[in-house]
Amino acid sequence: MAAMGGRAHEFRKIPSVDQLLNDLGEAELARPLIAELARALTRELRQTGEVAAYPEILARLRSQVDGLSRSRLQPVVNATGICLHTNLGRAPLAEPAVRKLAEVAGGYCNLEYDPVQGSRSRRGGYAELCLKILTGGQAVIVVNNCAAALLLILHQTVREGKPEAVIARGDLVQIGGGFRIPDILRASGAVMREVGTTNRTTLADYRNALNPQTGMILRIHRSNFYMEGFVEIPVLKELAGLGAEFAVPVVFDQGSGAMLPPAGRPPQQEETTPPQALADGVQLTCFSGDKLFGGPQAGIVIGDAERISALRHNPLYRALRPDKLTLAALETTVETYLNTAKNHAPELPALTALGADVSPLQERGRQIMARVPTDALPIELEDTLVETGGGTMPRTKIPSVALAVATERETPAELARFCRLSQPPVVGYVAKKRFYLDLRTVFPDQDPILIDRLTALASWVAAKT
Ligand SMILES: *Cc1c(COP(=O)(O)O)cnc(C)c1O
Repeated sequence: MAAMGGRAHEFRKIPSVDQLLNDLGEAELARPLIAELARALTRELRQTGEVAAYPEILARLRSQVDGLSRSRLQPVVNATGICLHTNLGRAPLAEPAVRKLAEVAGGYCNLEYDPVQGSRSRRGGYAELCLKILTGGQAVIVVNNCAAALLLILHQTVREGKPEAVIARGDLVQIGGGFRIPDILRASGAVMREVGTTNRTTLADYRNALNPQTGMILRIHRSNFYMEGFVEIPVLKELAGLGAEFAVPVVFDQGSGAMLPPAGRPPQQEETTPPQALADGVQLTCFSGDKLFGGPQAGIVIGDAERISALRHNPLYRALRPDKLTLAALETTVETYLNTAKNHAPELPALTALGADVSPLQERGRQIMARVPTDALPIELEDTLVETGGGTMPRTKIPSVALAVATERETPAELARFCRLSQPPVVGYVAKKRFYLDLRTVFPDQDPILIDRLTALASWVAAKT
């Protein structure tokens, strides 16, 4: 009884939701969200029976509200050096695309309407025409992302009664979090016909697997890893030849959307561009809009007109088609390509960041350091190597420049957290017991934010000593 009495006593200390909401005062989040947090908190107190002092409970709620409000979509400063960071939204859009998005988003638009004829038109028609001209494909269809493109292509082959996709074992890859090629094959209803071994697949392996059920030969670009050593796989041209011989289409999931010849990209990467894949004779190739293509999230399929038309008539397309915002950003991005001289890098932020020379980064680093009290906060300008990210160009290490911060008392993780919790969050990385802010991915007009954050960090560190 005494124990129960003690518990009842504890329970009386549990504040009411109303009291918590009152004492919390103004908050940025909608009331029902905060009320739910408060209810969950009081429920937890009741369950554990360990009831802290009231100010502590209120502080806990406040910190939860704060955490939730920071989870809202907001700009962050990317100081990771990774230009296509999937967690940070991959490719940033160029200014004209952002303007077009804003124009289209706030009102009505001609998404499926032809103002000249005053009649219905095809969604995405203009973007697809621009992509056709850019890539040299017979036809183009745009969906929500490259995974959706692959799903649609595979589903269509099942619909046509030829469910088998012949694929090399070395191509059964995992692209990113939760995206595995075998899973997408299964989800589409296609039958995976694996050939070869992890490291070696020959043209004969493909040839021997072909049968009347074969709907396609499928090649997946090994976007995020590479194999070296005793490795063999037929080049696209050879596969296209085999496909032509047996009237089996060859589909190439190109992934990255790299459009530029290697000279326009960081070195070392032999990446087949989508136009090159078509020139090699594949029937369809698909790629992402927001990786090396530098546009919005989208899946772009180019190639054979008849097959693209079949994809458009597949009922799944209705579920995978892009919205007006995607198309607004995409058509503007493709226009940027079309307005750029051949073999030059278009002015798209991701590509500009990827191609930036090191010496201006060093100069910016020096400028920033000159404006930060480095006597209070030890910073060094360090040469670094960064990756492209977004599951692209795994072999390529790009030389870059970072501000490396290390203090005596704080761990680098604490320094990183301080910067993440600023407004806007500044996201760097920890390595070699230092906290790094890499300048390749920080837009030059964001340098004042870094200066401000590092100055605040200097004060914070000084205040603790
Ligand atoms: C990234 C990638 C995908 C997935 O693209 P999303 O646009 O993210 O859906 C598919 N295939 C390859 C080869 C890729 O590199």
